[in-house]
Amino acid sequence: MNVLANPDTASSAPKPVEHFDVLIVGAGISGIGSAYHLTQQMPDKSFVILETQESFGGTWLTHKYPGIRSDSDLHTFGYRFKPWVGPPIATSEEIKSYMGDVIAENDLARHIRYKHRIERASWSSATNLWTVDAVRTDSGEPTTFTANFLWMCQGYYRHSEGYTPEWPGMDKFKGRIVHPQRWPEDIALKDKKVIVIGSGATAATLIPAIAGECAHVTMLQRSPTYFRVGRNAIELAETLRQLQVKEDWIHEIVRRKILFEQDAFTQRCLAEPEQVKKELISQITAVLGPDYDVEKHFTPNYRPWRQRIAFIPDADLFEGIKSGKASVVTDEIDRFTENGILLKSGEELEADIIVTATGFNLCVLGDIAFSIDGKPLNFGDTVTYRGMMFTGVPNLVWVFGYFRASWTLRTDLVADFVCRLLGHMKRKGAKKVVPALRAEDHNMPLLSWIDPENFNPGYMMRNMNLLPKRGDKPEWQHSQDYWAEKDEIPAIDLDDAAFVYD
Ligand SMILES: Cc1cc2nc3c(=O)[nH]c(=O)nc-3n(C[C@H](O)[C@H](O)[C@H](O)COP(=O)(O)OP(=O)(O)OC[C@H]3O[C@@H](n4cnc5c(N)ncnc54)[C@H](O)[C@@H]3O)c2cc1C
Repeated sequence: MNVLANPDTASSAPKPVEHFDVLIVGAGISGIGSAYHLTQQMPDKSFVILETQESFGGTWLTHKYPGIRSDSDLHTFGYRFKPWVGPPIATSEEIKSYMGDVIAENDLARHIRYKHRIERASWSSATNLWTVDAVRTDSGEPTTFTANFLWMCQGYYRHSEGYTPEWPGMDKFKGRIVHPQRWPEDIALKDKKVIVIGSGATAATLIPAIAGECAHVTMLQRSPTYFRVGRNAIELAETLRQLQVKEDWIHEIVRRKILFEQDAFTQRCLAEPEQVKKELISQITAVLGPDYDVEKHFTPNYRPWRQRIAFIPDADLFEGIKSGKASVVTDEIDRFTENGILLKSGEELEADIIVTATGFNLCVLGDIAFSIDGKPLNFGDTVTYRGMMFTGVPNLVWVFGYFRASWTLRTDLVADFVCRLLGHMKRKGAKKVVPALRAEDHNMPLLSWIDPENFNPGYMMRNMNLLPKRGDKPEWQHSQDYWAEKDEIPAIDLDDAAFVYD
């Protein structure tokens, strides 16, 4: 780390500006994993991680609602280099503890600056550096860094506030309205009537966790979602453990098994969606019995895999419904009333507390104001190189993981790419790398970041215009296909004309 004079303020009151080779944004699972790979693969690079929050964890620190857990298995949501030794579906505490071990075992804590919210990042072609302006969230003090390379691990949604639609009459409701992303510490659920609006993974994990305590919980959904049901255990891992196989072997073997099975499942979803649909729904009927209206409440009208399929360990959501402590209403909201929610069907649901498990606000690149040589940068005007880099944006990579496989699989792959790229630049003596469309790409159609026919979660559909564009060639899109990318990303030719070095 070097300390330089801030070029902008050098003539008045010079402030120390810290310089690092690499600046990592965010100390979530991507930022910590990326830092690990950097220390292993490029030990000579100086780096810092800037993080708004007061600790590491990202998603797993922000979300504090009861029952918060992964819906991916931790063998693949965990890093490839650190064995996961617990049950596959993990609580946020278990995930944070795993990340804490990675930080401690690899001496990463000294590289992290918490309570630093980055507000601006400005590239200068004169110096080939990013200048990053952050604010200390505790003191309000501005602080400035320079870096050769930005490694964006800020996730994809705004941590400060979740997405709550506006419904008429919300101000009239006498009870409390809560978003799971800001779960209040003081909320009393005992003997309360609770409505949870939403049918995604958050609603599905929250409801069984609170149903025992509440008088009743109603899951209110506009339309049904797919769920998978299973035991929170992996038989193969248990057998290998009985055989006293080493944990790092178990981790690798179980990862391979899970990835093999997920690939097969994805192929089946595409090849025989109706059969897969039948199988998923029959798992629910098996718990709720033939008299339950599974057709109305748990039969989605889209193909499996178009949205993430939440895993319900030990069928706890459905057991809650079967016990009568929870129920599902499939209807539309007309308006909020003093005592609850009036539905379009005319039925009124009573509630003391309404939880809006209605999703995220998409946040492209951390709400940071980017500029290049003084010109504001709108990522919506760029084209993505494999969902990692952006045309016209030098020395910057975004870790945007997978939705249909564990996010972190891509963190590991992108990290290998960044380290290889940094090594390549060093060998070439290049200070700058910027993706550019090649001659053969100039007539390429420019499409939205994701194909809505293929994957269409609400937070993406609401803000697609903010995201970079996609082309129709593998180089110019985030395919969301781990099974192709595990071979494609390591094979990227860094001397391809899509990379312009200076
Ligand atoms: C409840 C929930 C459950 C999920 N479960 C799964 C799952 O089981 N499997 C799966 O694959 N995915 C899951 N996801 C998706 C999940 O968000 C990702 O898998 C993963 O945790 C993202 O990690 P990340 O480090 O990339 O980003 P995040 O976890 O979002 O962390 C980003 C960090 O960057 C920081 N940051 C952002 N902007 C700035 C800034 N301007 N300055 C400084 N710091 C900044 C944030 O404070 C945050 O700490 C889940 C998401 C949620 C909300």
